[in-house]
Amino acid sequence: MSQVPISFEFSAPKTEEAAAALLRSQDRLAVFNPEYVSVTYGAGGSTRDGTKEAALALGQTAVPVAPHLSFGGDTKETISALLKEYQKASIHRLVALRGDRQSGLGQSKMSHAAELVSFVRAETGSHFHISVAAYPEIHPESSSVQSELTFFKEKVAAGANAAITQYFYNADAYFRYIDECQARNIELPIVPGIMPITNLKGLRRFSDICGADLPRWMVKRLEDFGDDTDAIKGFGTDVVTRLCQRLIDGGAPGLHFYTLNLSKPSARILKNLGY
Ligand code: FAD
Repeated sequence: MSQVPISFEFSAPKTEEAAAALLRSQDRLAVFNPEYVSVTYGAGGSTRDGTKEAALALGQTAVPVAPHLSFGGDTKETISALLKEYQKASIHRLVALRGDRQSGLGQSKMSHAAELVSFVRAETGSHFHISVAAYPEIHPESSSVQSELTFFKEKVAAGANAAITQYFYNADAYFRYIDECQARNIELPIVPGIMPITNLKGLRRFSDICGADLPRWMVKRLEDFGDDTDAIKGFGTDVVTRLCQRLIDGGAPGLHFYTLNLSKPSARILKNLGY
């Protein structure tokens, strides 16, 4: 079976126990030889220090790390100081985002991720490989597909090297988005974000926030499983494995797993895929 590069995303830990659990998960997933791992960022400072500490700790391992970065309520000086720390720690990747509104966008002078990408490029030149977010099912705040793609193109032109998508369960949404980007000469790798399915309640909550579509046929079956967690995991693994296989077969340049700091859900899918 053909394989593509993979990466794992971890959520910034808020406690010492959570930080230790993150490192254990990363250790278990390292057997799959990820290209890099990333750590989310709480805009507004809610987990900023957790992100930095986790990124510096992960930076001690053999796998490259990509801290997520957003401006939140931070001043340009604060962001600049953080970039310098990352450079000093030999970190060469970033995932640059506007950040969730609910995490707080406070007093920042920036309003869109493109401005952050430009800022990082102005401050650090080509030091960082920068990934940005993409939305095959369209960002909830976008007024149209056209505006989504226009602003995505601006963000790429600001200096992004790659994009990672919001998760989705409709492969056609991804392939259509790729076609639309190609038609607009947007030519960077757009890596699908993969969310393993382990419970319906959490998945619904996340999907409501980020605007990911949960197909009815999938939800109906998950509802029928009730509290049977083994059945949910088995079904979820099968659905997401098939999705990944279809994406690989259709030419996706990689797979980025949203681990939520758990190793087993991603590991089950990767084993099915022959990794
Ligand atoms: P933008 O690219 O700024 O886009 C946001 C909206 O503004 C879109 O609708 C866009 O079309 C529109 N827009 C862009 N430019 C303009 C303009 N010039 N004028 C008018 N409208 C414009 N959130 C976190 O808080 N922390 C994380 O660590 C995190 N990691 C993520 C990782 C990935 C891979 C993804 C896909 C999302 C992640 N998010 C994270 C969520 C992300 O912050 C939210 O989806 C946020 O709402 C948008 O971020 P963005 O970087 O895509 O913003």
